Amino acid sequence: QKPVPSDIVISRSCVPKPIDCMAREVGLLSDEVELYGKTKAKVQLSIMKRLQAQPDGKYVVVTGITPTPLGEGKSTTTIGLVQALGAHLKLNVFACVRQPSQGPTFGIKGGAAGGGYSQVIPMEEFNLHLTGDIHAITAANNLVAAAIDARIFHENTQTDKVSERKRCMNIFVWSGANVGTAVPPLLDTNDRFLRKITIGQSPTEKGFTREAQFDITVASEIMAVLALTSSLADMRQRLANMVVATSKSGQPITTEDLGVSGALAVLMRDAIKPNLMQTLEGTPVFVHAGPFANIAHGNSSILADKIALKLVGPEGFVVTEAGFGADIGMEKFFNIKCRYSGLRPHVVVLVATVRALKMHGGGPKVTAGMPLPKEYVEENLELLETGCGNMKKQIENARLFGVPVVVAVNAFKTDTQAELELICSVAKAAGAFDAVRCSHWAEGGAGAVALGQAVQRASESPSDFKFLYDVELPIADKIRIIAQKIYGADDIELLPEAQRKVELYTKQGFGNLPICMAKTHLSLSHDADKKGVPTGFVVPVRDIKASVGAGFLFPLVGTMPTIPGLPTRPCFYDIDLDPETEQVNGLF
Ligand code: ADP
Repeated sequence: QKPVPSDIVISRSCVPKPIDCMAREVGLLSDEVELYGKTKAKVQLSIMKRLQAQPDGKYVVVTGITPTPLGEGKSTTTIGLVQALGAHLKLNVFACVRQPSQGPTFGIKGGAAGGGYSQVIPMEEFNLHLTGDIHAITAANNLVAAAIDARIFHENTQTDKVSERKRCMNIFVWSGANVGTAVPPLLDTNDRFLRKITIGQSPTEKGFTREAQFDITVASEIMAVLALTSSLADMRQRLANMVVATSKSGQPITTEDLGVSGALAVLMRDAIKPNLMQTLEGTPVFVHAGPFANIAHGNSSILADKIALKLVGPEGFVVTEAGFGADIGMEKFFNIKCRYSGLRPHVVVLVATVRALKMHGGGPKVTAGMPLPKEYVEENLELLETGCGNMKKQIENARLFGVPVVVAVNAFKTDTQAELELICSVAKAAGAFDAVRCSHWAEGGAGAVALGQAVQRASESPSDFKFLYDVELPIADKIRIIAQKIYGADDIELLPEAQRKVELYTKQGFGNLPICMAKTHLSLSHDADKKGVPTGFVVPVRDIKASVGAGFLFPLVGTMPTIPGLPTRPCFYDIDLDPETEQVNGLF
């Protein structure tokens, strides 16, 4: 077999079709499409109205086993599967994926356009600014942060007449370091020193200094609003409902109260339109919204999925991806995204790899830049069989929602036949509808045809979708159900701040929101070092935050930095521009 070239070499070797041709091919009218150069376009929401009578296509969600540093290939499989269904099985298809954050692109992970011969192209357009949606979110959020700072200043110094402002309510009492605002400023870069800062140190701020922090844009509430909204009016309302502070008397203060919600909607006006791109094999892709899955809800936008389901028609397939493992992205896909969208998935595709399962079976740690230990590149059925426990648990988790599961075994070149077969037989015995090996990374869509056929069959089998919990249950009960049923915990422990928030949100009327757990993605438990299927643990809930505009409560389990740091050897070392050709080099 020929060696597979690097992702960027493959991406560049393929000439994308002009995006206006792609738009016509999928049935968009020219006045529904806004071109952003030759390879990207935004799609206007008016299409929803034109196609409202069209029945939806089949809806497939791609998830995975618990991630390891070895990489499982969910994005690669999402793209490989649509290439197989579209370019080889000749069905109408759409892939719906998240826009990557520049944090990981320049940090540890690199890009997220898929890999090998299963990619969104051009990958540099996909991985960098795209059409500016993340920048728009940063701008909108930072306007709220500025509005809060200005309000604190003016209310406490009386330098302007409070009564002349749009809404006058004397929100903030100055109480030194902590004024309890819920909107940190944002940026989409992994700058660890911004995790804790002091602001307001210029003499012009008259001593109103306070401790603050930055968050990464993709963990923000406005990103979640974008991903969960269903229309411009709904987005305007969700942005207005965002609770950004607490008043002197303990009342929630929204962006509407601050008079900034209309301006937020204006800044987000273009970001709400899904971005059209294509795969290496010329099938369509929507790239829209990009919340992280551990500290946010980890799913691309409802609007992109809805438009795609209409465009493919009743015989077609929309494949959407949920971030990280099934305990994280898929749980939130069902309990949050599907609850708001009303959409019901037909099939779950669960991606597994030999090497990651071996790590769950007790395989040694890996060091970036060092050759992989022999356990991962030589046959070791014993280690693999032990590690399959993690896959079995994640299959069980998917089946709790009543949707058929197809396991996609993403083959690496060092995997042996016996290893690949072992995973398939364990998966079927654990209740998967089917389990299929695939080689779409090395062969493109042709390598995922069997997976595509299995997904087609599964989509015709009966499904009995149900949510894991009733949103009307008390907050603690909802968290306990997720911890016990999905993570396998014995119980949860609400630490004092979390307990206080349960009481506060219940009193404020937010108790009936769904739950978005902020938990490590590297283990089914809250301890990233516990691989496989941890048992005998109690999940400590440190605090609970409310994203009232987006529409969920998010319990914080353990300490999760809300802005990542850069490693000693960040990806940006390799990234450069060729001034002759204007090509971007070094992205992967
Ligand atoms: P995830 O979505 O699970 O984070 P990705 O699809 O982004 O994973 O893949 C992670 C990395 O692994 C990418 O660089 C991709 O090219 C590589 N990869 C995925 N599948 C394979 C495979 N079968 N063989 C070799 N490399 C692969």
